[in-house]
Order: sequence, then structure tokens, then C-alpha cells
Amino acid sequence: MPQDKHWIQCNCRSEALLLESNDDLALLSVYSLQHSPLWRDRLRLVWKIIRTGTPFTDQIVLGKEELKELKRAIKTTTKNIENYERTKRTESIEG
Ligand SMILES: [Zn+2]
Repeated sequence: MPQDKHWIQCNCRSEALLLESNDDLALLSVYSLQHSPLWRDRLRLVWKIIRTGTPFTDQIVLGKEELKELKRAIKTTTKNIENYERTKRTESIEG
């Protein structure tokens, strides 16, 4: 079964969110994108992968209902941000 993978990078560019599906579940995984030149940090990441079997920092597993709730929350949050930007634009035009 083909799997959709959606990568969304954090505004600060240090982390990324991966949204993917696994059968009837949605998986949200947070990855740290900080590539440290220090061997200590690289070994820490390798040790984490060996210990947990996963390279991601954290993961949330959502069923269909929780995914719908997340969709509603993203829609509301997007509207709030758009309203804020519209208000800010209007204020700058009116001076
Ligand atoms: Zn960030």
C-alpha cells in the first residue's frame, strides 16, 4: 500500500514534523534536524536510534476521530492567523 509522507519544517528550521499513515492510524513524528559537527552529539543520536529503534524525538499516534479533531483545530488556528494578519494589514493602511 502506498504511504503518503508529509514533511513540514519548523519555522526555526531545527525540527520537522512528519505526518504519515499506517493502516488506520495517523503518525505524527517530530525530528530534530540539528546536525551537530560534534562527535558527542552524533554518538548520542546513534545511541538513541540503537536504544529506541527510532530516529525521531517524539511521536503521536492518532485514530480517525483524533485526526478529524486535529483537522478542525488546524482550520480554526489558520483562520485566527489569517484574521490577525488581515487586522494588522488594515491597521497599517489606516495608519
Ligand atoms: Zn523549531
